[in-house]
Amino acid sequence: MQQELNEIRPYRAIHRRKSRQIFVGNVAIGGDAPIAVQSMTNTKTVDVQGTIRQVNECVEVGAELMRISVPDQESSAALKQIIPHCPVPIIADIHFHYRRAIEAAEAGAKCLRINPGNIGSDDKVREVIKAAKDYGCSIRIGVNAGSLEQDLLNKYKTPTPEALVESAQRHMRILEDNDFFNFKISVKASDVFLAVAGYRALAAVCDYPLHIGITEAGSLAAGTVKSSIGLGTLLWEGIGDTMRVSLSADPREEIKVAYQILKTLGIRNHGVNLISCPSCARQAFDVIKTVEAVEKRVEHIKKPLTISILGCVVNGLGEAAHTQIGITGGGGGRHNVYLNGKPDHKVTSEELVEHIVALIEKEAQNAK
Ligand code: SF4
Repeated sequence: MQQELNEIRPYRAIHRRKSRQIFVGNVAIGGDAPIAVQSMTNTKTVDVQGTIRQVNECVEVGAELMRISVPDQESSAALKQIIPHCPVPIIADIHFHYRRAIEAAEAGAKCLRINPGNIGSDDKVREVIKAAKDYGCSIRIGVNAGSLEQDLLNKYKTPTPEALVESAQRHMRILEDNDFFNFKISVKASDVFLAVAGYRALAAVCDYPLHIGITEAGSLAAGTVKSSIGLGTLLWEGIGDTMRVSLSADPREEIKVAYQILKTLGIRNHGVNLISCPSCARQAFDVIKTVEAVEKRVEHIKKPLTISILGCVVNGLGEAAHTQIGITGGGGGRHNVYLNGKPDHKVTSEELVEHIVALIEKEAQNAK
């Protein structure tokens, strides 16, 4: 279908970078696998029930992988209790301490986010890699502009794309020298220009799958814009195999924004794609309140559906013609409902939200 669309509308085509494929548990990353959406818990890992709850809430809105920090031994012990209750593979976020990495692998983590150059002696590196191999863990090398090695900062004066890539290559070499190739890489920065240039440069020198992200992107609104520009640019160029949007917000928002970016670029279809107008004096019902209410009620739906909600017929007819469910405001408080592009029936303002939600749920159910 996507290929057909690309032939009809070549301006929409995205040529994805060819990357090798690895697995995080049962989730393929790279190659022709869908770009996996992930987020990270912000509960204390020792809060076992709270962390399980948050992982499951994120999965409910579409998380395919979740990352959990393992800062100390208590967290390793908690991770072991958490993982059996997680419906998606868990990535353990480790900084520096090799024992935490081994404990996380033993606890059932399917990926370790750790930079081998930060682990310490060769023996410790070998132990971590052995644990990763023994327990079927992949690794993510996570280079960050905010924590570059001092010698690279001295060499480049400031974090640059070249410095990010050189750092990544050091970590890559350590894994490769130990016959470990089951890894993905990120080179994150909060500066969009730096992150994009870093990923472009990295994509040009290796075929490992890339985890893309704009780190510390900011609040829900600011971070969404930053991530959309940075990650949108990379994805448009075909770069990226798994993604995390980083927001100072509920992690569920990260998942929703990630899917919105992927949907906008036509890369993945997930959940309800809601087309709605900004509203104006012509609106025949309260568009903003209706859209907010509907969006909240259908965020658990994963089946791809396109819905249009427009306040009047000015642009409403054209949009409704291309959606599965279309609403345009009508006179006398009675609004037009279109099903698969065709006028079908009318609904009153009072019934509008419930009616749209019921139609969406029915459509999602039919497709099961
Ligand atoms: S669709 Fe109608 S109500 Fe909505 S912005 Fe356009 S003219 Fe205004």
